[in-house]
Amino acid sequence: NKRVILRDYVTGFPKESDMHISFSTMILKIPENHKGVVLVKNLYLSCDPYMRLRMRNDQDPEFTPFTPGSPITRFRVAQVLDSTHLGFKEGDFVWGTTRWEEEDSFIARPERLFKIRHTDFPLSYYARILGMPGMTACAGFYEVRSPKRGEYVFVSAASGAVGQLVGQLAKLEGCYVVGSAGSSEKVQLLKERFGFDDAFNYKDEHDLEATLKRYFPEGIDIYFENVGGKMLGAVLINMRVHGRVAVCGMISQYNLDQPQGTKNLMCLDYRRIRMEGFVVFDFCHLYSEFLHKMLPLIRDERITYMEDIAEGLVNAPAALIGIFSGNNIGKKIVRVAPE
Ligand code: NDP
Repeated sequence: NKRVILRDYVTGFPKESDMHISFSTMILKIPENHKGVVLVKNLYLSCDPYMRLRMRNDQDPEFTPFTPGSPITRFRVAQVLDSTHLGFKEGDFVWGTTRWEEEDSFIARPERLFKIRHTDFPLSYYARILGMPGMTACAGFYEVRSPKRGEYVFVSAASGAVGQLVGQLAKLEGCYVVGSAGSSEKVQLLKERFGFDDAFNYKDEHDLEATLKRYFPEGIDIYFENVGGKMLGAVLINMRVHGRVAVCGMISQYNLDQPQGTKNLMCLDYRRIRMEGFVVFDFCHLYSEFLHKMLPLIRDERITYMEDIAEGLVNAPAALIGIFSGNNIGKKIVRVAPE
């Protein structure tokens, strides 16, 4: 059984050597008389930007840092090997939170596991469009920002796991949507595959305020914020009066010891902008509703989604770190075992 272990808390840009692979020959079994637990075999692991925040020794009560010397944890798709929990039985497929291990994991919190009931989709979908990133896009766009037909929507990190879905949902709602991404290949994907009305490579733009003015001459109604930093400041000055910002994440800040300040915050006031952060876990109770919405959209091919798969747990550290350089095109996942 291989595991991904965090060596120590990380400062600055993470490196592969901040993690190492440990091997264990221990055979995991549910101890006798141990009720309400599940033993699973991991199939896919999800590489999420948020994991970087848990590599810091932060005192913020909202982040539980990983423990150096222990396996890192995050979402995955898995199969149940054994269970003493009434809600799960051997052979079930599940998605939820676990340790980054190759074979078995001892899940102490089955309340963070979702049973996969629609197995007519590839199981990897539950690490992406039908799992946490999909829920994040839907919760942030619909629950937090309530879009209306005809509104102008801007999405940053738009080719990423969350962004590509937000853009497509915005189109389905009849909005005008522009995305930013970090390469010309990604920009092309946004326009040609995901149906964004327009897109630009933020790395080619020296004056983001002017760039956004060019793409949104009438201003932005909804900004789906994934990156923070300079982009947020440039967006604020381009928001319309009563514009709304869903703060999903700020990946440009995760590797900085001191977050950058944000320009143009005054606009919040005189433009009456509503800016609200959210965390997907607060919307878990809407998961069935979410599936009800997404399944037909995927079946009818009205939504498409890209994943970027790394093979084998040994490649998991590189896969995770790569998302901070934009190496991934679409959701980065690691295939740990065949389905
Ligand atoms: P992905 O891992 O799919 O993609 C991340 C992308 O971000 C990269 O491919 C890269 O694309 C871009 N990026 C990386 N570094 C920078 C940088 N310094 N400046 C600008 N862009 C950068 O991301 P997700 O879609 O999974 O996550 C998007 C955001 O949503 C993140 O901020 C994440 O933390 C947040 N999130 C929040 C959740 C919540 O509950 N609030 C849940 C899930 C995610 P490019 O080539 O375009 O630069």
